[in-house]
Amino acid sequence: MRNNINSASPYTAALSRGMTRWNDSPAPGQFRSVTSGANVNAWQVYSSSTDWAWVTPNGTGTGCPTGYYFATNDLTFNTRTMDSLSERQQWVVAVHELGHVYGLAHTSSSCNRPSVMKTGTDKFNCTGTPPWNDDITGVTNIYRPSLTEVTARPGSRPMTYFDGPVYTSVGELDVLSDIVVRGTVEKIRSGFDEEQFQGIDIAAPSLPMTLNTIRVSRYVRGSGPATVTVQQIDTVRMPTPDATPFEAGDEVLLFLKDTGFDFGGERIHAITGMDQGYLRLRGGRLLGTPAERRSPAAGLTMEHVTAQLR
Ligand SMILES: [Zn+2]
Repeated sequence: MRNNINSASPYTAALSRGMTRWNDSPAPGQFRSVTSGANVNAWQVYSSSTDWAWVTPNGTGTGCPTGYYFATNDLTFNTRTMDSLSERQQWVVAVHELGHVYGLAHTSSSCNRPSVMKTGTDKFNCTGTPPWNDDITGVTNIYRPSLTEVTARPGSRPMTYFDGPVYTSVGELDVLSDIVVRGTVEKIRSGFDEEQFQGIDIAAPSLPMTLNTIRVSRYVRGSGPATVTVQQIDTVRMPTPDATPFEAGDEVLLFLKDTGFDFGGERIHAITGMDQGYLRLRGGRLLGTPAERRSPAAGLTMEHVTAQLR
């Protein structure tokens, strides 16, 4: 692990604690800090994403039989959202991210059988300290018979896991959004990076983005111009189970945050909660995308959702 985070940053402390938690567990392998030759690079960035952190397989490393492990990874913390977490929550996030580095995917277990790999905030409130038995068993299974004898499953590909809140009500999505729009996906442009929108050039890996023009048929909440520009993770350049690409011509309902950044004369908006704020409209019904964190508005009617807005 090479730490590219400012040593005074709270994430350096969180990361160090996370590594110790895994190293003190019976899980195979040990994390250690190095100054060169690392196969895990840790970073911090400011992102408009509502997520706390993500782990991105970097390059074409060798995958394990589960198809999750890749030889090199970038682990990125989002200062915008991590800053509001408590010290304990920050290191629990670090333990979770290191679980992805090991090759673990997400779990859906409750605190009865706690797992640090559960998405969202539930894991913060389970008793005891992660990693828990379920996590350690998962890592042990991946690295059977040994840390070096892992080979790629045919067809497996690098996958980025994003980690942030899981919203359980339309009200939560609404409170976090600046506008709610109904409209049609008019134009999709690719080839952007989030740091371009922010007008910066940093060493840390930037999120690849598409820019999407939405022709607004109705501002369900708020007001604005006839089209809005929405950034979305470019899933071609960054495959992830957390984002579903827009399709031109689709009718959508979007919960959007103003990122505060202008790019090429366009104000950039971000979808609240990755795909949780992205719904497709089909025959009066709202369909959540197939993303891992599905929208709390999925399956509702437009009228039902509108009634729950501020
Ligand atoms: Zn995760």
